[in-house]
Amino acid sequence: MKHYTIPVFIPELACPFQCAFCNQQKISGRLHVPVKAEIVRTFDEYLRSFKIKKRHVEVGFFGGTFTGIPLTEQEKYLQLVQPYLENGNIQGIRISTRPDYINDEVLELLKKYHVSTIELGAQSLDDEVLKAAHRGHTAMQVEKSSRKIRSAGFELGLQMMIGLPEDKIEKSLATARKIIELGASNTRIYPVLVIKGTAMHRWYMHHQYKPLTLYEAVYQSKQLLLLFEKSGVKVIRLGLHPSEGLLHGSELVAGPFHPSFRELVLTEIWGDIFKPLMKSKQNVQLNLHVPLSEINYAIGHRAKNKRLLLKHFVQVRFVANATLQVRQYVAENLVLTSPPYFPV
Ligand code: SF4
Repeated sequence: MKHYTIPVFIPELACPFQCAFCNQQKISGRLHVPVKAEIVRTFDEYLRSFKIKKRHVEVGFFGGTFTGIPLTEQEKYLQLVQPYLENGNIQGIRISTRPDYINDEVLELLKKYHVSTIELGAQSLDDEVLKAAHRGHTAMQVEKSSRKIRSAGFELGLQMMIGLPEDKIEKSLATARKIIELGASNTRIYPVLVIKGTAMHRWYMHHQYKPLTLYEAVYQSKQLLLLFEKSGVKVIRLGLHPSEGLLHGSELVAGPFHPSFRELVLTEIWGDIFKPLMKSKQNVQLNLHVPLSEINYAIGHRAKNKRLLLKHFVQVRFVANATLQVRQYVAENLVLTSPPYFPV
C-alpha cells in the first residue's frame, strides 16, 4: 500500500508566538493563504498524479498552527475534504498544530470532520530547551495535549528538533523516549537550521548560538531513528524537505541542511551494520544480499559503504532481495579463481 500526503499550507498569519528558529514565511516559501478553489484544485491535481492504485491518501494541513485559526475557518478547510472522503478518493486528514492549542472544543470539531492524525510541534520535552527556543509552552502542556489526543481516539504525531539552544544529545534521547511513552505513532526529526530574520540568526551572528555540524546532526539522528524504530514509532521525516523554500535564495544562513539528509542517516546505519565485515582484507568477491527497499542506503550515499567495503574485498556486489526484513543482510564470499588483487 503506497501512502501519499497532499500538503496544504495554511500559514497562521496571526501566530502570536515568535519561536527563535522560525520564520514561517521563509520556511513554507509563501505567506499566501490559499483560497477554496485553489485547495480543491490542489486535491484534484495531486490525485491525478498518483499512479499507484493500491494507495492511502491523506490531506495534510500544515504550515502553521491549524487549530490556532478561528473554528469557523478550520471548519471551512475541513469541509473541502469531506466530498473526497465520501467518494473514497481520500482516506484521511492530518493537521499540525501547537501543543497549547488543543482543547475539547477543537478536538470535537476535528472528530466531526474525520481528522485522523494530529501532529504536535513538541520540538523538545525539556523545559530549559523550550524556554531557550522561545516556544511559549512547557513540556507538561505537550504531555497533557498528547494524552487528550490519544484518549479522543486520534493518531498522534509528535515532531522534535535537534540542535536547539541548551539542547544536547542526552536531552534529545530523553525527548524521544517521552514521545514513545506518550503513544505517538509517528514523528518528524528536524535538525535546527538558521533561517534569515529569526532570533537564532541574530544569535548566530553574535556568536551566541552554534548550529550542529552536518556530521553531528546525522550522528544524533541515527541514534534517534534507531530508538524510534525499536519502539514502532514511524519517522516520517528526517530533515527539512528540499522543496521547503531553502534551496533557492539566501534564506538558509547556516546549519546542517542536506537535500538527502535521510539518505545520509541510513547510510551511516548500514555502515555500522557492515563494520564486522571490515576487519581484514580478503581476496574474495563479496556478494551482499540486502532488502530491496534498502539497497540504495546499504550501498550508501555516493556509494560510501561500497567504497569502504572495497578496501577489504576485491569485489563487492549488492543484490536486492525482497524476502529479507528491513535491516537484514546475507553475505556471500565468493573465492576468486583469478589471481588475488590485494598485494600479499
Ligand atoms: S514555529 Fe509555529 S508557533 Fe512558532 S512562530 Fe512559527 S508558526 Fe508560530
